Amino acid sequence: MQNADELAAYKTIGAKNTAERNKPTIYTPVSKSATKTLSYSINNVPDFAWFADKDLVIQYDTVKLASGKIVDAFSYYHNKKNTLWVNSIDYIKDATKKYSQWIGEYEYPVVQAIEGPKNNASGGMEYPTITLITSPDAKKETLDGVITHEVGHNWFMSMLGSNERMHTWQDEGFNTYFQFRYEAEKYKSNSIFGDAIPAKIKELPTDKFLASIYGALSNVPMQSPIETPAADFKTSEEYGLISYAKTALWLYLLQAEIGQEKFDKAFQAYFSEWKNKHPTPADFKASMEKSLGVNLDKYFALLNQQGKF
Ligand SMILES: [Zn+2]
Repeated sequence: MQNADELAAYKTIGAKNTAERNKPTIYTPVSKSATKTLSYSINNVPDFAWFADKDLVIQYDTVKLASGKIVDAFSYYHNKKNTLWVNSIDYIKDATKKYSQWIGEYEYPVVQAIEGPKNNASGGMEYPTITLITSPDAKKETLDGVITHEVGHNWFMSMLGSNERMHTWQDEGFNTYFQFRYEAEKYKSNSIFGDAIPAKIKELPTDKFLASIYGALSNVPMQSPIETPAADFKTSEEYGLISYAKTALWLYLLQAEIGQEKFDKAFQAYFSEWKNKHPTPADFKASMEKSLGVNLDKYFALLNQQGKF
């Protein structure tokens, strides 16, 4: 935001609301005139969105990344009793930190999430630097998972701008792999299995927990190949299961084979090579083969496989 006085007001109120979460201070307009003009400017984004509402609670904090870069974090939500959104600023910060650490640093000066109207068909809608969250927030793990997923689209959609309609897996699937990792590390939870995860599994260390989640996922019938254009899926459930979950499982197979550290290094190299560009599946394959020094023909052929791996 280019309006210095307005931005300063958001930060002052937002920092207060982050410190005193149960007694939010409501925004009062900087100017009393009937209208105002706000200007926004940003580099290296493929899209743009803004939201307006008179009754939003603003939270503000900063995220410090490994390089020392400081990112402004904001959340905007409705002032309802017992809302889980009082901790939303933490979820935005954690997601930005974790994805930066695992994939490559967040590039933009600001990261934000806003509570929208409930919509059971999707958890939210991502835009660069700001994401609309529309999922019912019944539990902190699920709200955190959805916010993290949508914040994650700053990597898979914005910084890495693959063709989401033709190769959805490079966008939703990659994002889901990292979302599952985040949920496992932070809560030993998983957005696919939810309450069905036995307490014994939750007691496992993170890597074993994830192995168990992916083991269970590999038994779920997933018929279509991952490499299916979004419009060709017969149902939205199948689109979700294949593009999101089957892809996460596919990535996990490689990670389990070569180890987390090697996998992360190769994925980070892919990110830095293709940041602010439009990587295709062939670009991803070439980058991973270069980093790992192996031929991945057989592994990438799995993208076209019907049914189980
Ligand atoms: Zn998504």
